[in-house]
Amino acid sequence: MSDALTAAEKPQTTNFIKEIINEHNRTGKYEGRVHTRFPPEPNGYLHIGHAKSICLNFGIAQEYGGKTNLRFDDTNPCKEDTEYVDSIIEDVRWLGFDWEDRMYYASDYFGQLYEYAIQLIKAGKAYVDSQTADEIRQTRGTLTEPGKESPYRDRPVEESLDLFEKMKKGEFPDGSMVLRAKIDMASPNMNMRDPVMYRILHAEHHRTGNEWCIYPMYDWAHGICDSIERITHSICTLEFEIHRPLYDWFLEELGVYRPQQIEFARLNMTYTLMSKRKLLQLVKENHVSGWDDPRMPTISGLRRRGYTPESIRTFAEKIGVAKADSVVDISLLEHCIRDDMNKRAPRVMAVLRPLKMVIENYPEGQVEMMEAQNNPEDPDAGNRVVPFSREVYIERDDFMENPPKKYFRLSPGAEVRLKHAYYVTCTDVIKDENGEIVEIRCKYDPESRGGGTPDGRRVLGTLHWVSVPHAVDAEIRLYEHLFSKPNPEEDPDFRVNINPDSVEVLKGCKVEPGLKTVKTGDFFQFLRQGYFCVDRVDSSEDHIVLNRTTGLKDSWAKIAKKDK
Ligand code: ATP
Ligand code: MG
Repeated sequence: MSDALTAAEKPQTTNFIKEIINEHNRTGKYEGRVHTRFPPEPNGYLHIGHAKSICLNFGIAQEYGGKTNLRFDDTNPCKEDTEYVDSIIEDVRWLGFDWEDRMYYASDYFGQLYEYAIQLIKAGKAYVDSQTADEIRQTRGTLTEPGKESPYRDRPVEESLDLFEKMKKGEFPDGSMVLRAKIDMASPNMNMRDPVMYRILHAEHHRTGNEWCIYPMYDWAHGICDSIERITHSICTLEFEIHRPLYDWFLEELGVYRPQQIEFARLNMTYTLMSKRKLLQLVKENHVSGWDDPRMPTISGLRRRGYTPESIRTFAEKIGVAKADSVVDISLLEHCIRDDMNKRAPRVMAVLRPLKMVIENYPEGQVEMMEAQNNPEDPDAGNRVVPFSREVYIERDDFMENPPKKYFRLSPGAEVRLKHAYYVTCTDVIKDENGEIVEIRCKYDPESRGGGTPDGRRVLGTLHWVSVPHAVDAEIRLYEHLFSKPNPEEDPDFRVNINPDSVEVLKGCKVEPGLKTVKTGDFFQFLRQGYFCVDRVDSSEDHIVLNRTTGLKDSWAKIAKKDK
């Protein structure tokens, strides 16, 4: 298996971020400290892209014996919510990472940020601008033309101080004024053209309530939060590269501690949207059942789908980090969970679309307990026994009345093996008044118990089955990609690419009696069907619901081989 993996898929032993850290450690830039942070904005649930960032930040710190903070970048009261805060805490923990006592909020620093703003105004490096948001936008200039200086740019320091204080006290309406940094309206970097630091927003914040009616902009707050927490390596995605000069400018002008920002390429994945705004839209417009819908790329969706923290961490390791944008094939993520499940998931039999088979020469009322291996990949997993009787369910797909050539499953006159049990030969087909097959009749060979016959006869097909009187009912949900195109954003409205067949709900499935007492979080391999887990939300003692995590076919192995 492992020799089918491409170089890109092997865990990176080193990467450009570690090289930067090694260099800092060599020169003593941060006295050998490595202190990272994961800074989500609590405006949505975390997705697999965030998982990459989490694994990177916590993983690097762990490797260097350092620390990682969890910090909520809660500077936008309108979009943020404690529901999101709680989900983020749960998801990072579930992934297996620990921030110990270092959970912070940007809002913890609102007071300090305000003091720093005053410091910049006093130094003549910031001013209150009384232009409207529209005016500010219109005078920003373009990539090829410089912006226009605000008529308020040179208002006296005292006046800006006074206005800024009144902004804070709530004396002005939303949008009437902002505080801007005084940098350079002609800078080729648009972020340096007197960026807005504070805006007036009479909005209630999920933590600070109505204490504030001015809120810091992300660009003003972010670098300072990192500085206050004495972060050494502020790892973020590439789109912030062009903001770095601004963060450095703020810290330089304030004369405070400066972390090193390092940018890496964000995760993009086929068939997947990675924007919280668009994921929120999927939820709000009921294209999915919620943030934790098993088709969602959110951590909570993946968890509900049956992904394990181990498989997601392995995925993050395999994709590595790079400076250049790329798109990861979703089959690599599926490969990671399949690999994990292959080692750990108990094998059981489940019939998704049942068809009844009656074994005419098997004694009525007789039950035999057949020995079955729990996991051939795990010698410690042991065996279990499965009841066998005169009537069993088999998969509807495993029978064809008029089979094509090379159909190795069951058809009239054909012989197959029932896994862990006997050889059976089909003798008759029973139909209802509409011509639908409702039952098949077989005879079994009592000499073939456990899979062989005295005459050495062989059969090509092996079917899974569940004994009718012992079967447990279950609802099983099968999933496909949420989008029907590898790049759902290819069209102006991504919603046209929502796959209408991304979920199929099968009721009346039949599973082995051992599954009667399943619990949330249990997972299995259903022979020939894939990996399944008990649904965390809808499954109960009297109504078992299982989600298919992934099928058995590894399309990544094929891709990896082709690329080699
Ligand atoms: P989105 O674009 O989904 O709204 P975001 O960047 O606005 O994401 P944040 O809550 O600010 O969301 O992200 C927290 C951290 O996760 C940031 O450091 C961000 O760089 C990182 N991150 C977000 N998306 C990805 C991704 N696709 N791949 C890697 N890291 C990501
Ligand atoms: Mg962000």
